[in-house]
Formats: sequence, structure tokens, C-alpha cells
Amino acid sequence: MSNPSVAILGLGIMGSGMAQRLLQANFPLTVYNRNRDKYRAFSGAFPASAPREAASRSQIILSMVSDNNASRDVWLGENGALAGASKGSLLIECSTLTVDWIQELASKARAQSCQFLDAPVTGTKPHAASGELLFLVGGAADAFAMARPVFSVLGRDSVHLGPIGSGALMKLINNFVCGVQAASFAEAVSLIKAGGLDLTRSTTILTGGAPGSGIVKRVADRMAANDFEPNFALRWMAKDLSYAIETAAANEVSLRTASAALSVFQQAIAEGHGDEDFSAVTKSAA
Ligand code: NAP
Repeated sequence: MSNPSVAILGLGIMGSGMAQRLLQANFPLTVYNRNRDKYRAFSGAFPASAPREAASRSQIILSMVSDNNASRDVWLGENGALAGASKGSLLIECSTLTVDWIQELASKARAQSCQFLDAPVTGTKPHAASGELLFLVGGAADAFAMARPVFSVLGRDSVHLGPIGSGALMKLINNFVCGVQAASFAEAVSLIKAGGLDLTRSTTILTGGAPGSGIVKRVADRMAANDFEPNFALRWMAKDLSYAIETAAANEVSLRTASAALSVFQQAIAEGHGDEDFSAVTKSAA
């Protein structure tokens, strides 16, 4: 069976790796990015002039953009992807967004007789490029089945968590737990330095012991290498914490540790680290 035609909206760190992966697997691919300079790296794909054109050429339309506003911009409006999507096409929103916006977008897709999945991912830049993402999926079972050929090329696995919004909610929970641990580690670094302990020996104790989760190790490694080139930008971690807090509040749950972590990330942004990797939170003064 031939591969379905796919559009990727958003050629950022994640979207560009995913697009390259689909090209390598011979999917007919159309790409759209707001900044057209990014098209240069995608000679095998059709460069769309607008999300609408990208959608009109594709059976599966996948969005991987920064936040709710960016998602609104690519899907809605006269030149938005929804305006170009054919009846029966499958729309997949992979960006990390609020559950409220996902529900709104899904109802707009339904109104146009399109299938819809929310399918945010875990994994970062290298996993996007090597097809080792984990898709956290919400939506109907038949839509999930239709997405399988794409998920199997882009991911090591895809988990169908329930109805629309389930993937978005799980992703916000996942990143809130990551953000809290990264912020705690950054504060630990401040105390290690202020207390006159040796930084290398102290972080080795932390990463080798009970606090040494995958995310804490990742942040500690980046700090030790003094490498803050973004795999996952710090400002997107702050975005995810604020979306998690907002989504939890709508469920009458108060994420107090997420609020504390968000203030640590906001300080790092105020100090100019927003475009660096989120591990640059360790550079921010506590
Ligand atoms: P990124 O490198 O900053 O790319 C963001 C993309 O969104 C770019 O293509 C950008 O276009 C586009 N965009 C932003 N505002 C827009 C607007 N108003 N209209 C149209 N396009 C707009 O971000 P990323 O790291 O790829 O992350 C993408 C999504 O995946 C985010 O929701 C993030 O939270 C999530 N995520 C990221 C990672 C990671 O490790 N990086 C992991 C899991 C999930 P321009 O190039 O024109 O600016």
C-alpha cells in the first residue's frame, strides 16, 4: 500500500526532524513554515505558500508549532489549514497545547467532517530526527488507526489514551513533572554554590542517587558541558508549566509545585535565557 500524503505545519526543532524522517520513508510530503527560509533544507518536499495549500494537498495534516496562538494561526482563518482540508482527511495536532484549545479545534474539525487527534510527543530533537518519539494520543479509534503509518515512522510507540484531549492532558502532566524537577535541580545548584560545596562532586551525588531522574541527569549533563544550545527551549518549558496550571485549575486541582517551578523559569526568561535549552535554568540566580 502506498504511503498517504502528509503535510507538516511548522519546521521548528521538532517539526523539521519529523519532516526529514517522513521524506526518508518516502511519504509524499508538503511542508509549511511561517519563516520560508526553513524551506531550503527540504528539497524533497512541496513548499506550501500557506497552511491552506498544504492541507489541500494532503490526506494527513500534522501541526508541530510552539503554542496555542501559533496553532490558531496555522489552523484558522482564510489561509488556515482547516480552510484547505478535504472531507475525511485526518488532522493531527502534535504541539503541546491546552486541553481547552484542543477541544475547540477538534469541534471545528468535526464541523468540516475531518478526523482529529491530539498527539503531543515525548522525546526531543534527536528523537524527532531518528523516529523515536512517543505519541500520547487522544481521539477516536478509527482516526488512531488511520494515523498508524505516520506514527510508526516518527515514533518508537504511540499510546491511545482515550477521547480527544487525553493526549494533551497527559503531555502537560508529563512536562509539569519534568519542569518541577529541573527547577528544583537549578535551586539545588544555587545552594551548592552558595554553601561552598564542590559543584561536580555534589551533582554526581545527586545524579547517582535517588534524585537522579532522567530529566535531572539530562539537565546536569548539559550544565557540566556548558552546552545550552536548545533541544527544548526554556520558554516552551515555562509555557508548558503555565498550560498545566491552567488545565489543572479547570479540573479544580491546584498545582502548587508547578507554580513555584514556573516562577523559577520566568526568572530565567527575565535574565535572557528563554531561547536557550531549558537546562539553562541552572544559570539563573535563585
Ligand atoms: P520551535 O523550534 O521553537 O519551533 C516552533 C515552530 O512554531 C516554528 O516552526 C515556528 O515558525 C512556528 N510558529 C511559532 N509561532 C507561529 C505562528 N504564530 N504562526 C505560525 N507558526 C508559528 O519549537 P519546537 O521545539 O519544535 O516545539 C514545537 C512544539 O513541540 C511545542 O509545542 C513544544 O512544546 C513541543 N515539544 C517540543 C519538544 C522539544 O524537545 N523541542 C519536545 C516535545 C514537545 P517560525 O520558524 O516561522 O518561527
